[in-house]
Amino acid sequence: MKRLSLLLCGILISCISFSQKTYYTGRSLSVPQEYKDDHNKVNDGFCGTRMSDEMLNWLKAYKQSGAPANKQGPDSTLYYIPLKIHIVGTNDGGGYHKVSSILDGLCKLNEQYEQVGFHFYIEGEFDYINSDALYDHADYNVGSIINQHKTPNAANIYYVQNPAGNCGYFSPYRDYVAVAKSCAGSSNSTVAHELGHFFSLPHTFNGWEGRATTEAPQSDDELVARTNCSDHGDNFCDTPADFISDRWGCPYSNTKVDFAGTPYAVDGSLYMSYANDACQNKFSPEQIDAMRAYLLSNRSELLNHPMPILDTLGSATNIYPANGAIGVPANFVQLKWNKAVGATHYNLQVTRYFNGNFSNIDIVTTDTTLSPATTTAGACVPLTKATPAAATLLTATL
Ligand SMILES: [Zn+2]
Repeated sequence: MKRLSLLLCGILISCISFSQKTYYTGRSLSVPQEYKDDHNKVNDGFCGTRMSDEMLNWLKAYKQSGAPANKQGPDSTLYYIPLKIHIVGTNDGGGYHKVSSILDGLCKLNEQYEQVGFHFYIEGEFDYINSDALYDHADYNVGSIINQHKTPNAANIYYVQNPAGNCGYFSPYRDYVAVAKSCAGSSNSTVAHELGHFFSLPHTFNGWEGRATTEAPQSDDELVARTNCSDHGDNFCDTPADFISDRWGCPYSNTKVDFAGTPYAVDGSLYMSYANDACQNKFSPEQIDAMRAYLLSNRSELLNHPMPILDTLGSATNIYPANGAIGVPANFVQLKWNKAVGATHYNLQVTRYFNGNFSNIDIVTTDTTLSPATTTAGACVPLTKATPAAATLLTATL
């Protein structure tokens, strides 16, 4: 007797798009290599530094203008941002990041960006790319593959095995985010961090990328007292001076001091710091203003889409096997379910048991029938382009 549990989740995937510019902002698991890699990358034909300057110069000009976002648009507006999801596998189609993990990650991302007033949704269909070169890229020299697949007028995210030795990075020059599968779960903040770059935010330790944490701050660095915060560090005065370009655990317990001799007071709760993911839970008010202003001034094409449908999704109910059915033929199971109100897609996770081995199916489908041949146990997970659907658990016994 084997249990067949099928969890159906309505998935509403809408259609929309986006585009833009970049510099590389890698986010390493341990030792940050991003800026070193950035400069190495120049030898590969990328010019991240120039593009980085472009975005940093925008931020400086914006801060000097004294124009917070609420002068450029209603501060309470909730903006819907299209994400183009690229799922990268090996040449033979192996190693795809699980759809259910991507969806869980996006649900988390929307929780993280609720304070910003951004809500991300999926643009079009998932784009599956079979490319060893992109799946495990040791350097940033993947521009031609990226460009082949980029969708204009959307934030393009590539889920890969190895994004140049980082957890993830944002390329201002090619204008995309790459993230490691291992750093893209619902307990991670890497995607939130990289999209912070995408919307103009530097690291809280801006200028310290590639500098050793043992190095003493200099006279031209930001002061903990914030007397020079408007044009030093990340240019934000509500993010404490930060000199730590390596991953660190919070709260900060070292006794290092800035150039004036004032002890560090770094804030690990900021997504744009390098504190461990578990420490992070916010953008500062000034960072939020800058992101909203950057959206309206430099990425307004993201908003040139029909408003995503926000209907509440209904539940999917199974047709076959019946919920709790007993004696379902184990050698061939056809899963059938009723359409969920409002759903255009469904995410199915089914575990197959065949010749003593388990294998997994984790797909998005527009159909309401799946024939996974020998099936033993299953589950399906969530999502909607705008709001997660309530999952429906269906069970049957073989
Ligand atoms: Zn970064």
